[in-house]
Amino acid sequence: MSLELTAKYDQDWTGDHVGRSLAVVRPRNVEEVAAVVRWCGANNVPAVPQGGNTGLVAAATPSGDGRELIISLELMNSIRSIDPADGVAVVEAGCVLADLKAAVEEKGAFFPLSIGSQGSCQIGGTISTNAGGINVVRYGMARSLVMGLEVVLPDGRIFRDLRGLHKNNTGYDLKQMFIGAEGTLGIVTAAAVKIQPKPSQCETMFLATASIEDTIRLFHRIRQDAGDLISAFELMLGTSIQRVCETEQGIRNPLPQLYPAYAIVEVSATGGPPLRAWLESYLAQHLEEGQLLDGVIAESGEQVANIWNLREGIVESQARLGVYLRTDVSTPISAVADFIAKGTELVGRLVPGAQVHPYGHVGDGNLHFNVLRPLDMTPSDFQPHIHRIEAALFELVDKYDGSISAEHGIGIAKRSAFRARVDSVQRDLMTKLKNVIDPQGLMSPGRIFSKE
Ligand SMILES: Cc1cc2nc3c(=O)[nH]c(=O)nc-3n(C[C@H](O)[C@H](O)[C@H](O)COP(=O)(O)OP(=O)(O)OC[C@H]3O[C@@H](n4cnc5c(N)ncnc54)[C@H](O)[C@@H]3O)c2cc1C
Repeated sequence: MSLELTAKYDQDWTGDHVGRSLAVVRPRNVEEVAAVVRWCGANNVPAVPQGGNTGLVAAATPSGDGRELIISLELMNSIRSIDPADGVAVVEAGCVLADLKAAVEEKGAFFPLSIGSQGSCQIGGTISTNAGGINVVRYGMARSLVMGLEVVLPDGRIFRDLRGLHKNNTGYDLKQMFIGAEGTLGIVTAAAVKIQPKPSQCETMFLATASIEDTIRLFHRIRQDAGDLISAFELMLGTSIQRVCETEQGIRNPLPQLYPAYAIVEVSATGGPPLRAWLESYLAQHLEEGQLLDGVIAESGEQVANIWNLREGIVESQARLGVYLRTDVSTPISAVADFIAKGTELVGRLVPGAQVHPYGHVGDGNLHFNVLRPLDMTPSDFQPHIHRIEAALFELVDKYDGSISAEHGIGIAKRSAFRARVDSVQRDLMTKLKNVIDPQGLMSPGRIFSKE
């Protein structure tokens, strides 16, 4: 392939991570993947599997030395079967997540993995990063949706277990190793995934509160009262809503004024009594008691889209200011409000005037605590501060016994922060596992762990 043709594969979705590949291969079936991997082994060529390249930790892009072969799964994108009665779909790794979701819906079922990049990311990528997204609070992360996998191992053998069994306790559950492995243990070529009955009712609300603490209290109340009906609970601050409405065309605040904090809440059910009537009286009671300051239940598909665009628009809105700190941390849910308060103070001390935009899947304790440059500082002047702020925030995460990466993984970008924190026993087991499965160290070298 010419450089022009490989450019798309050499750079990630953000444009922040750019490398130079030896070449790009696009196999059409599992045997071709196995043949390429065997060739890599015989010729000592490192290989990196690539999906939609929307991962945010520099794991799927090649290193800069021109030695790594990119194995793109994009031509392996067929959906082999969808069986709502058995609750399983079998799909090739290169299938784009949104395409799988649409095909499953056509069959009257539902695949609950929902993430902002679903128009580009692939099933193999979501499994290899154990992706999360907005519906984790009800359906779990990618791991809990995988029933079976087909994987090409670094020695070219094929691990085959695509039975869509809901229960199977025969020996070690080996497929778990490949989920979230970021391509370091093999190449996922197909998966059997769990599908659900399609909810017949889904209500989306945009609720305003006086503070982050009140939003968290609201989460606990709704979880108590609506239980498993909550399918999403996202926190955003008034400052982020204001920014998105100012910078993103066509996105508007559905409420007449700005409040300190907001929750986007989705409640859904398959059958059962009407949710809307219950929600209306439930929210009215919260408004009366003062736990809520204002709120709206979407009345049309357009209003639902506008509410979710407020959330998804944050990514574009932040990027407009040039380089910024993007984090993906988690703490216990009970610590989220305190973490945001302390983190905001910390950033203010390190770079006065920096803009803090924490938002995220607060029902799982997962926050994107992002930091934008002060308006009077240029992007290049802000750049050196990014690592300093990130390091300080990660230390704060440690104080809450949290995670420096709740969704995006380690890749290359978070490698040294991971290394500094991983427990020695866990590190030893991970290294041994990697060495047993990939003794030549040719599969995604340098991702998660530095090259030894
Ligand atoms: C706008 C935006 C929103 C996002 N929102 C979320 C979110 O809500 N939740 C979340 O968890 N993530 C989110 N992400 C991160 C990203 O989309 C996910 O990590 C996604 O799962 C990556 O899929 P991909 O196909 O793009 O993988 P890639 O970026 O191509 O690869 C990611 C990793 O998986 C490996 N890999 C890819 N395919 C395979 C395969 N077939 N076999 C083995 N290894 C493979 C790669 O080598 C790399 O290590 C978001 C990203 C963006 C840009």
